[in-house]
Amino acid sequence: MDSTLMSDVCGCDSVPPVPSGEIMSVSDAMARALSQISPIAETQSVSIGDACGRVTQRAVFAINALPLFDNSAMDGFALCCADLDGRESLPIAGTVSAGERPGTLPEGAAMRIYTGAPLPKGADAVAMVERCHEAEGKVCFTHRPVPGDNIRRKGSDQAQGQMLIPSQTRLGPRHIGLLAANGIDRIGAVRRPRVAVFSTGDELGPDVKTPGKIPDANRPMLLALAHQAGADVTDLGILPDDLEATKVAFEGIGDRFDLILTSGAVSMGGKDHIRDALVAAGGHVAGWRVAMKPGKPVLFGTLGRTACTGLPGNPLAVYVNFQLFVAPQISRLMGMKPAPFANVPARAGFDWVRKPGRAEIFPARLATYNQAGVPVLERLGRGVSATLLPLAEADGLAIVPADIERVRYGDGLHWHPFCRSGEMR
Ligand code: AMP
Ligand code: MG
Repeated sequence: MDSTLMSDVCGCDSVPPVPSGEIMSVSDAMARALSQISPIAETQSVSIGDACGRVTQRAVFAINALPLFDNSAMDGFALCCADLDGRESLPIAGTVSAGERPGTLPEGAAMRIYTGAPLPKGADAVAMVERCHEAEGKVCFTHRPVPGDNIRRKGSDQAQGQMLIPSQTRLGPRHIGLLAANGIDRIGAVRRPRVAVFSTGDELGPDVKTPGKIPDANRPMLLALAHQAGADVTDLGILPDDLEATKVAFEGIGDRFDLILTSGAVSMGGKDHIRDALVAAGGHVAGWRVAMKPGKPVLFGTLGRTACTGLPGNPLAVYVNFQLFVAPQISRLMGMKPAPFANVPARAGFDWVRKPGRAEIFPARLATYNQAGVPVLERLGRGVSATLLPLAEADGLAIVPADIERVRYGDGLHWHPFCRSGEMR
């Protein structure tokens, strides 16, 4: 399979028109999903202790040069190299430790120095302790040091005023460390997106001992996914399969949220009321149904200023649709450019004859790497199944474009490793 086949499912910059009632391609649906979203303009001042997962509103610049002062990169002895002319050893005039104020090196002497300690004035090198021999108050140098040895110069890592973190960056622990190292304890962050989640279905618990009932898998999963994507989540519970109740629930939501996520009741069955209820509550449907497996019935729309994404009921489809459409929606809410879905090259470790017409996304396990170092994927699950077990055992999701009839062992594929979506196994 030609890997360029994937370009249509990965790119989503333009918003092609989707005639009403027509099933969207995955790339059209991605564009449609994003077109429902406006980036959040509100910002907040956040302490770095609360900043992990937040998105910078503006670029952050260095207040100071780093290192803040010349200091030793090693445990050893600070000296002025010229003092060794005609000599092999120098008297030890004292010790300078990390955290002390910078001192002065007495002429013709060396000072014991520890890593990170300020270089004494007059010293131009640090000889590492492994290359020194100490006896009777003197230090003998087994290798002659040269000026500059083992010194970290002020400003050599980073200049004052240098950009540390660009705007629209989602902060991780490494950014928090960088900010702390620069003495920055607060940053301007985009307000977290407010995302509300409800499930639909008369079959959903809470008492799953009752025959015919099943536990609600989607709501906890969606709340966790949205939280992990950086949202402030609100659990709106379970709605019955009832048009009026669903309409009333939509009406009660008002403008409290940036994005509403529903699952189930978005297909064409007699109990599928999400679409009609949204419209009856004054909402707008911008796109419905995507040529993909699993999860064809997906709805993109708005309710007032709130985006509304109706996901299918099948839990595997919910997860897949979240990664394809909702994660980018949340990224855009936070002002970020959404990361492309499944843009990592891989090879099929399986043969698969399939019915063309819909793009297919499936849980994939990293089986091995081929000789060129490219990941070789094993396909998990049975395609039609709703179970989350293969997903839980997978290392990521892989995608096959709609028109492909046969995937042969060794064909090029694209995949979406979970570690790329902030999820580690
Ligand atoms: P629906 O589109 O509402 O007909 O749902 C499709 C399938 O997904 C049905 O088998 C539902 O029972 C199942 N389903 C819907 N919502 C959930 C949920 N929250 N948790 C687990 N399964 C669900
Ligand atoms: Mg249902």
